[in-house]
Amino acid sequence: MNPARPKGNPGDPASDYLIRFYEVLNDHFGNLHWWPGDSTLEILIGAVLTQNTAWRNVEQAIHNLKQKNLIRIDGILNTDRAVLEALLRPAGFFRVKTKRLRNLLQFVADKYDGDLDRMFEEEIWSLRDKLLSIHGIGEETADCILLYGGLKSIFVVDAYTRRMLERHGLIGHRTTYSEIQDLFMDRLPHEQSLFGQYHALLVEAGKRFCRQVPRCEACPLGKFLVAAVKLPTTGKKETENRHVA
Ligand code: SF4
Repeated sequence: MNPARPKGNPGDPASDYLIRFYEVLNDHFGNLHWWPGDSTLEILIGAVLTQNTAWRNVEQAIHNLKQKNLIRIDGILNTDRAVLEALLRPAGFFRVKTKRLRNLLQFVADKYDGDLDRMFEEEIWSLRDKLLSIHGIGEETADCILLYGGLKSIFVVDAYTRRMLERHGLIGHRTTYSEIQDLFMDRLPHEQSLFGQYHALLVEAGKRFCRQVPRCEACPLGKFLVAAVKLPTTGKKETENRHVA
Protein backbone atom coordinates (compact mmCIF):
# COMPACT_ATOMS: atom_id res chain seq x y z
CA MET A 1 0.00 0.00 0.00
CA ASN A 2 1.21 3.50 -0.82
CA PRO A 3 2.02 5.74 2.17
CA ALA A 4 -0.55 8.41 2.99
CA ARG A 5 -0.13 11.81 1.40
CA PRO A 6 2.30 13.72 3.60
CA LYS A 7 1.43 16.87 5.54
CA GLY A 8 4.34 19.31 5.82
CA ASN A 9 4.83 22.57 7.68
CA PRO A 10 1.96 24.92 6.80
CA GLY A 11 3.18 28.22 5.35
CA ASP A 12 6.66 26.91 4.55
CA PRO A 13 7.13 27.15 0.74
CA ALA A 14 9.91 24.57 0.71
CA SER A 15 7.73 22.11 2.60
CA ASP A 16 4.94 22.64 0.09
CA TYR A 17 7.41 22.19 -2.78
CA LEU A 18 8.80 18.90 -1.44
CA ILE A 19 5.31 17.52 -0.87
CA ARG A 20 4.15 18.43 -4.36
CA PHE A 21 7.35 16.89 -5.76
CA TYR A 22 6.44 13.69 -3.94
CA GLU A 23 2.81 13.71 -5.03
CA VAL A 24 3.62 14.19 -8.70
CA LEU A 25 6.24 11.43 -8.69
CA ASN A 26 4.03 9.12 -6.67
CA ASP A 27 1.13 9.61 -9.08
CA HIS A 28 3.45 8.98 -12.01
CA PHE A 29 5.32 5.88 -10.79
CA GLY A 30 3.00 4.43 -8.12
CA ASN A 31 4.30 2.30 -5.27
CA LEU A 32 7.80 1.11 -6.14
CA HIS A 33 7.95 -1.43 -3.27
CA TRP A 34 11.48 -0.65 -2.22
CA TRP A 35 13.82 -2.14 -1.15
CA PRO A 36 13.84 -5.44 -3.06
CA GLY A 37 15.08 -8.33 -0.94
CA ASP A 38 13.79 -11.56 0.61
CA SER A 39 15.30 -10.87 4.04
CA THR A 40 16.87 -8.14 6.15
CA LEU A 41 20.29 -9.60 5.53
CA GLU A 42 19.73 -9.55 1.78
CA ILE A 43 18.81 -5.86 2.04
CA LEU A 44 22.08 -5.14 3.85
CA ILE A 45 24.04 -7.06 1.24
CA GLY A 46 22.27 -5.15 -1.54
CA ALA A 47 22.99 -1.82 0.15
CA VAL A 48 26.73 -2.51 0.02
CA LEU A 49 26.78 -4.04 -3.44
CA THR A 50 24.79 -1.24 -5.07
CA GLN A 51 27.48 1.35 -4.43
CA ASN A 52 28.44 2.79 -7.83
CA THR A 53 26.60 0.20 -9.88
CA ALA A 54 23.23 -0.49 -11.46
CA TRP A 55 20.79 -2.69 -9.57
CA ARG A 56 20.65 -5.38 -12.28
CA ASN A 57 24.34 -6.11 -11.57
CA VAL A 58 23.59 -6.40 -7.85
CA GLU A 59 20.79 -8.85 -8.59
CA GLN A 60 23.19 -11.11 -10.44
CA ALA A 61 25.67 -11.08 -7.54
CA ILE A 62 22.89 -11.82 -5.02
CA HIS A 63 21.65 -14.61 -7.26
CA ASN A 64 25.16 -16.10 -7.18
CA LEU A 65 25.17 -15.98 -3.37
CA LYS A 66 21.76 -17.64 -3.23
CA GLN A 67 22.90 -20.43 -5.54
CA LYS A 68 25.62 -21.25 -2.99
CA ASN A 69 23.31 -20.79 0.02
CA LEU A 70 25.45 -17.87 1.16
CA ILE A 71 22.84 -15.34 2.25
CA ARG A 72 24.08 -16.05 5.78
CA ILE A 73 26.39 -13.99 7.94
CA ASP A 74 28.56 -16.96 8.90
CA GLY A 75 28.49 -18.19 5.32
CA ILE A 76 29.88 -14.95 3.94
CA LEU A 77 32.43 -14.54 6.73
CA ASN A 78 33.70 -18.12 6.43
CA THR A 79 33.86 -18.42 2.66
CA ASP A 80 37.26 -18.17 1.05
CA ARG A 81 37.88 -14.58 -0.06
CA ALA A 82 38.67 -15.45 -3.68
CA VAL A 83 35.51 -17.56 -3.95
CA LEU A 84 33.39 -14.73 -2.56
CA GLU A 85 35.02 -12.22 -4.88
CA ALA A 86 34.15 -14.39 -7.87
CA LEU A 87 30.52 -14.59 -6.76
CA LEU A 88 30.31 -10.82 -6.27
CA ARG A 89 32.13 -9.98 -9.49
CA PRO A 90 28.95 -8.97 -11.42
CA ALA A 91 28.41 -6.10 -8.94
CA GLY A 92 31.66 -4.42 -10.03
CA PHE A 93 34.50 -3.25 -7.76
CA PHE A 94 34.16 -6.78 -6.42
CA ARG A 95 37.36 -6.86 -4.34
CA VAL A 96 36.47 -3.65 -2.52
CA LYS A 97 32.86 -4.72 -2.09
CA THR A 98 33.84 -8.14 -0.75
CA LYS A 99 35.94 -6.36 1.89
CA ARG A 100 33.20 -3.86 2.73
CA LEU A 101 30.55 -6.54 3.00
CA ARG A 102 32.72 -8.60 5.29
CA ASN A 103 33.52 -5.53 7.41
CA LEU A 104 29.81 -4.87 7.87
CA LEU A 105 28.91 -8.47 8.67
CA GLN A 106 31.89 -8.88 11.01
CA PHE A 107 30.57 -5.84 12.87
CA VAL A 108 27.12 -7.47 13.19
CA ALA A 109 28.73 -10.72 14.33
CA ASP A 110 31.05 -9.07 16.88
CA LYS A 111 28.66 -6.50 18.38
CA TYR A 112 25.30 -8.28 18.15
CA ASP A 113 26.17 -11.99 17.90
CA GLY A 114 24.99 -11.85 14.29
CA ASP A 115 21.46 -10.90 15.39
CA LEU A 116 20.13 -8.17 13.08
CA ASP A 117 16.96 -7.69 15.13
CA ARG A 118 19.12 -6.90 18.14
CA MET A 119 21.19 -4.48 16.11
CA PHE A 120 18.13 -2.59 14.92
CA GLU A 121 16.77 -2.30 18.47
CA GLU A 122 19.51 0.26 19.04
CA GLU A 123 18.66 3.97 18.95
CA ILE A 124 18.81 5.14 15.34
CA TRP A 125 21.49 7.87 15.53
CA SER A 126 23.71 5.83 17.82
CA LEU A 127 23.54 2.89 15.41
CA ARG A 128 24.14 5.22 12.48
CA ASP A 129 27.35 6.49 14.10
CA LYS A 130 28.51 2.90 14.58
CA LEU A 131 27.73 1.95 11.00
CA LEU A 132 29.65 5.00 9.76
CA SER A 133 32.69 3.88 11.75
CA ILE A 134 32.89 0.69 9.62
CA HIS A 135 35.43 1.06 6.83
CA GLY A 136 33.59 1.39 3.49
CA ILE A 137 30.19 2.30 4.92
CA GLY A 138 29.32 5.90 4.06
CA GLU A 139 26.26 7.98 4.85
CA GLU A 140 24.12 6.79 1.94
CA THR A 141 24.82 3.12 2.59
CA ALA A 142 24.29 3.49 6.34
CA ASP A 143 20.99 5.27 5.78
CA CYS A 144 19.81 2.63 3.29
CA ILE A 145 20.59 -0.04 5.88
CA LEU A 146 18.66 1.88 8.55
CA LEU A 147 15.69 2.82 6.36
CA TYR A 148 15.12 -0.37 4.42
CA GLY A 149 16.83 -2.97 6.60
CA GLY A 150 15.91 -1.58 10.02
CA LEU A 151 12.66 0.13 8.96
CA LYS A 152 13.84 3.34 10.66
CA SER A 153 12.53 6.77 9.68
CA ILE A 154 15.56 8.34 8.07
CA PHE A 155 15.91 10.00 4.68
CA VAL A 156 18.45 8.62 2.20
CA VAL A 157 20.27 11.11 -0.02
CA ASP A 158 21.80 9.85 -3.24
CA ALA A 159 23.45 11.50 -6.21
CA TYR A 160 20.15 11.69 -8.14
CA THR A 161 18.47 13.50 -5.26
CA ARG A 162 21.33 15.98 -5.13
CA ARG A 163 21.27 16.52 -8.88
CA MET A 164 17.51 17.04 -9.04
CA LEU A 165 17.38 19.44 -6.10
CA GLU A 166 20.28 21.39 -7.50
CA ARG A 167 18.71 21.65 -10.94
CA HIS A 168 15.54 22.93 -9.32
CA GLY A 169 17.44 25.55 -7.33
CA LEU A 170 16.65 24.02 -3.92
CA ILE A 171 20.28 23.48 -2.95
CA GLY A 172 23.68 24.76 -3.96
CA HIS A 173 26.63 22.82 -5.33
CA ARG A 174 28.30 22.65 -1.94
CA THR A 175 25.30 21.63 0.14
CA THR A 176 26.28 18.71 2.38
CA TYR A 177 24.67 15.31 2.70
CA SER A 178 23.29 16.11 6.15
CA GLU A 179 21.92 19.46 5.02
CA ILE A 180 20.00 17.75 2.22
CA GLN A 181 18.81 15.08 4.65
CA ASP A 182 17.64 17.79 7.05
CA LEU A 183 15.83 19.56 4.22
CA PHE A 184 13.50 16.56 3.97
CA MET A 185 13.47 15.45 7.59
CA ASP A 186 12.68 18.93 8.94
CA ARG A 187 9.72 19.28 6.61
CA LEU A 188 8.11 15.88 6.22
CA PRO A 189 6.48 13.53 8.73
CA HIS A 190 8.94 10.94 10.01
CA GLU A 191 7.32 7.87 8.49
CA GLN A 192 9.45 5.01 7.24
CA SER A 193 7.04 4.17 4.40
CA LEU A 194 7.04 7.79 3.19
CA PHE A 195 10.83 8.17 3.30
CA GLY A 196 11.30 4.76 1.66
CA GLN A 197 8.93 5.51 -1.18
CA TYR A 198 10.21 9.09 -1.64
CA HIS A 199 13.81 7.95 -2.06
CA ALA A 200 12.70 5.22 -4.49
CA LEU A 201 10.73 7.79 -6.52
CA LEU A 202 13.69 10.16 -6.75
CA VAL A 203 16.00 7.36 -7.92
CA GLU A 204 13.47 6.22 -10.51
CA ALA A 205 12.93 9.77 -11.83
CA GLY A 206 16.68 10.32 -11.83
CA LYS A 207 17.37 7.18 -13.83
CA ARG A 208 14.63 7.82 -16.37
CA PHE A 209 14.71 11.57 -16.75
CA CYS A 210 17.30 13.48 -14.72
CA ARG A 211 20.31 12.02 -16.46
CA GLN A 212 23.49 13.90 -17.28
CA VAL A 213 21.55 15.37 -20.19
CA PRO A 214 18.15 15.93 -18.55
CA ARG A 215 14.89 14.98 -20.28
CA CYS A 216 12.83 17.75 -18.71
CA GLU A 217 10.26 17.81 -21.51
CA ALA A 218 9.22 14.24 -20.65
CA CYS A 219 9.77 14.44 -16.88
CA PRO A 220 6.75 14.75 -14.54
CA LEU A 221 8.74 17.32 -12.55
CA GLY A 222 9.25 19.59 -15.56
CA LYS A 223 6.46 21.91 -14.41
CA PHE A 224 8.36 22.69 -11.20
CA LEU A 225 11.34 24.19 -13.01
CA VAL A 226 9.63 27.57 -13.21
CA ALA A 227 8.63 27.57 -9.54
CA ALA A 228 11.87 26.67 -7.76
CA VAL A 229 12.38 27.78 -4.17
CA LYS A 230 15.91 28.80 -3.15
CA LEU A 231 16.87 27.58 0.32
CA PRO A 232 19.73 28.95 2.41
CA THR A 233 22.09 25.95 2.58
CA THR A 234 25.88 25.80 2.40
CA GLY A 235 28.48 23.14 3.02
CA LYS A 236 31.50 21.21 1.88
CA LYS A 237 30.97 17.45 1.93
CA GLU A 238 29.97 15.52 -1.19
CA THR A 239 27.49 12.65 -1.22
CA GLU A 240 28.23 9.09 -2.37
CA ASN A 241 27.72 8.51 -6.06
CA ARG A 242 25.34 5.60 -6.45
CA HIS A 243 24.24 4.18 -9.83
CA VAL A 244 23.92 7.55 -11.54
CA ALA A 245 23.69 7.47 -15.33
S1 SF4 B 1 14.75 15.97 -15.73
FE1 SF4 B 1 14.40 18.17 -15.61
S2 SF4 B 1 12.36 18.37 -14.74
FE2 SF4 B 1 13.05 16.27 -14.32
S3 SF4 B 1 13.99 16.37 -12.31
FE3 SF4 B 1 15.60 16.68 -13.80
S4 SF4 B 1 15.79 18.92 -14.01
FE4 SF4 B 1 13.80 18.46 -13.06
